[in-house]
Amino acid sequence: MAVKSPNLMSTIVNLCKRRGFIFQSSEIYGGLNSCWDYGPLGVELKRNVKESWWRSMVTHRRNIVGLDSSILMHPKIWEASGHLSGFSDPLVDCKKCKERFRADHLESLEKCPKCSGELTDIRKFNLMFKTFMGPVEDNTSTVYLRPETAQGIFVNFLNVQQSARLKPPFGIAQIGKSFRNEITPGNFIYRTREFEQMEMEFFVPPEEDQKWYEYWSQARFQWYIDHGIKRENLRLRDHESDELAHYAKACVDVEFLFPFGWSELEGIANRTDYDLKQHSEFSGKSLAYFDEESKQHYFPYVIEPAAGADRTTLAFLVDAYDVEGEGKNKRTILRLHPSLSPIKAAVLPLVKRDGMPEMAEKIYDELLDDSIKSFYDHSSSIGRRYARQDEIGTPYCITVDSQSLEDQTVTLRERDSREQYRIAASSVSEILKQKMKDALK
Ligand code: ATP
Repeated sequence: MAVKSPNLMSTIVNLCKRRGFIFQSSEIYGGLNSCWDYGPLGVELKRNVKESWWRSMVTHRRNIVGLDSSILMHPKIWEASGHLSGFSDPLVDCKKCKERFRADHLESLEKCPKCSGELTDIRKFNLMFKTFMGPVEDNTSTVYLRPETAQGIFVNFLNVQQSARLKPPFGIAQIGKSFRNEITPGNFIYRTREFEQMEMEFFVPPEEDQKWYEYWSQARFQWYIDHGIKRENLRLRDHESDELAHYAKACVDVEFLFPFGWSELEGIANRTDYDLKQHSEFSGKSLAYFDEESKQHYFPYVIEPAAGADRTTLAFLVDAYDVEGEGKNKRTILRLHPSLSPIKAAVLPLVKRDGMPEMAEKIYDELLDDSIKSFYDHSSSIGRRYARQDEIGTPYCITVDSQSLEDQTVTLRERDSREQYRIAASSVSEILKQKMKDALK
């Protein structure tokens, strides 16, 4: 089992670059701090993370629907939500080395942790990115890049509720980019200034808030375990009252044991009726829900599980990373859950002759036709080809050998157990689909 050391982060960053998961943004220009690009394998992995979230939050639920709202929104939204006045971090600078820090991340404010120089007083620093809409750059044209996707959901609350004819408890889910001008981004894709969120606002009768808060805390914790994260590397941590965001009555974080320590993956917050009431007041349009049964209007309470697609992707990579053997026999295995693996199956002819490539290519095409993302590889020894697939987390390898040509069977090799057995060539796709389905049970 790989030991979680701080070096693990640099090992993962290197693996991600070498195998095409994640590259530094604008690399040929020297890079842009905290910005990252997802390569061919990374984009598949992150899409799988988002699709697994969507499946479990929307597709498989009777009472949750989706939304895709715009990133730029009316600037008054950020006044109403409290982000203009309250969405700030405490910033201090070192007078000597000019380094900037988030004051709440420092153990002491007496001196600079890097050079021991004197620190400035704390200033509030608003995290929202500003830009201008239209050709004139003045105060009346200022707009903000959204710092959370949630507000797009709140302002559409009645549009969605009425058009989809929903009755609390019900949820609206959204996946999309958010932007925060973080003072100290870092730890690879853990904290960046541009990132993707996966948020769901669950609207409930006010008296049911505690019940649903507990339900979603457990459900979201379980989602990580169901997708392969080891239980011992996950924990739920309640926020202290002085940590709570301005809108929250209670909040619990799902934390993961990263190589740099326990850190937040997702927050589940009880946002009360704060946002719906604020938008009703600031827009002059009531967002109260009309209950047909009691013939009364009321503001539902909101339970919000808010996760980050990039952080979650990093956690899955870290948790899956494993090394077996020593010296020449050392091999890296990404033990990703099959539903998350960028490539589900590799199709490998044992040698490049005797009709094996033709048979393998036929199987490869069938898998692609069945939407099973696969990879065809005929170069180098079979052992090296298996090792290359283990390193990127491919759960299954299909090998075509001389027996395949005689009896139309192939070898199926499983990544984690390294077990190998023969199956009918005609049933490869069905068997892989069933295995991936079983892995989610
Ligand atoms: P943190 O305390 O780490 O700054 P937060 O509590 O402000 O995070 P939320 O506002 O609860 O974060 O956002 C929900 C989720 O969005 C987080 O749990 C995280 O997964 C993701 N997220 C927030 N900020 C960032 C960021 N700068 N980079 C990547 N993901 C982020």
